[in-house]
Amino acid sequence: MSEQNLNAPQVDYDVVVIGGGPAGLSAAASAKESGAASVLVVERDDELGGILNQCIHNGFGLITYNEELTGPEYAARAEELARAAGAEFRLGAMVVDVSQDRVVTFVSEEHGLEQVRAGAVVLAMGCRERPAGALATPGFRPAGVYTAGTAQRLVNIEGLMPGREVVILGSGDIGLIMARRMTLEGAHVACVAELMPYSGGLKRNIVQCLEDFGIPLLLSHTVTRIEGEKRVEAVTLAEVGEDGRPIPGTEVTYPCDTLLLSVGLLPENELSRAAGVDLSPVTRGAVVDDALQTSVPGVFACGNVLHVHDLVDYVSQEAELAGLNAASFAQGLQQVRSATIAVRAKGGVRYTVPQFISPTYMAESITLRFRVAGVFEDRYINVWANDKLLVHKRHPILVPGEMESVVIKKEMLEGLDDLEEIVVCLEEVR
Ligand SMILES: Cc1cc2nc3c(=O)[nH]c(=O)nc-3n(C[C@H](O)[C@H](O)[C@H](O)COP(=O)(O)OP(=O)(O)OC[C@H]3O[C@@H](n4cnc5c(N)ncnc54)[C@H](O)[C@@H]3O)c2cc1C
Repeated sequence: MSEQNLNAPQVDYDVVVIGGGPAGLSAAASAKESGAASVLVVERDDELGGILNQCIHNGFGLITYNEELTGPEYAARAEELARAAGAEFRLGAMVVDVSQDRVVTFVSEEHGLEQVRAGAVVLAMGCRERPAGALATPGFRPAGVYTAGTAQRLVNIEGLMPGREVVILGSGDIGLIMARRMTLEGAHVACVAELMPYSGGLKRNIVQCLEDFGIPLLLSHTVTRIEGEKRVEAVTLAEVGEDGRPIPGTEVTYPCDTLLLSVGLLPENELSRAAGVDLSPVTRGAVVDDALQTSVPGVFACGNVLHVHDLVDYVSQEAELAGLNAASFAQGLQQVRSATIAVRAKGGVRYTVPQFISPTYMAESITLRFRVAGVFEDRYINVWANDKLLVHKRHPILVPGEMESVVIKKEMLEGLDDLEEIVVCLEEVR
């Protein structure tokens, strides 16, 4: 098997990581610990830590540290590990381009436009919120309509209250967390409305952020009207049918001055797209193999830019893997990808990451992460390779808001020569 020849162009850094959130920091620490001689993290903000800096609630790090840390505490630990490993940082620097041959261009107030040549690149740019414009809601666009993340930043970082009487649309984790946060800051949250018949957030957040505060969760509801010309004065909600359309006659108007939107997160992939990285229409992140390598050799992806995560612990685990593989690629240790095994999501499974496996360099075991497409009670998670059942795991309940995973061991694939695909699916328990 051939090895990458990376001796050709001189590189400025073995590994360049784009984004200094928890994913970028863990990838940087891991790349350095895995033998990369030099690792640079480029972050557009003036501080490291990413979205965690505005998440002052606790609940981070239960899996990694067996402790309930706040977002900034978790970020501080990730930063400490990356610094201790010897990564370098460029803050206040926005990456504007990544080329296929891994030249990273960034711009900063202090140094203007700069370019560095990387042995390997790790994409860790996180995600952004779906904006209000994505909603087809009639009425004006008065002041008082915020995305939940913007409201979180205003309250937790700027010390500003977006409003006093609040309706929240969308029950993803940020919406749930902001329902509690606004209540603790003295606002009244009338309700959280959710279009789907199930919440998009973690069960623990529904309990701790809504139920504990008596905030109603209205499933299968949406906003049909926003009233107020200059400032929001009221929001009308209606129940929706199975077709997702409002049911006439079910409208209820809630007088309020603020509407918070928590209607989805989108991986921040403009740079990846421009670099020629293949993106998945389902996750909207890169299509990757089990080394988290994208379709562009030497470019890896991890964290929320790859697919939206609910727990930061899994972001860190995934990023460590991306860092390790980026370091091996940069050192010329990673073999060239040859045949691949596709990982197909079927029967209730919406997507998997990775989307394919490279038998050429498969590790002893790999973790397939996935989300389901609806609420499923009492199901088996099955992983098939041809007619061999690799994994058969029973679950009492599976919901789209909680990421699931299965582990595939290399030994399970022994004897399955010329395997072209692995299927991950749900099956009813009879
Ligand atoms: C409101 C909220 C509540 C959450 N609550 C919990 C919780 O209770 N427990 C839990 O475990 N997890 C929670 N999470 C999830 C967890 O915080 C995220 O999954 C995690 O922060 C994602 O890390 P990341 O590094 O991929 O992205 P981010 O943290 O978003 O970091 C991405 C970084 O990349 C930088 N960047 C982007 N583009 C560029 C560019 N072009 N050039 C330079 N830099 C760039 C950004 O500035 C940012 O710093 C929560 C998330 C949110 C949003």
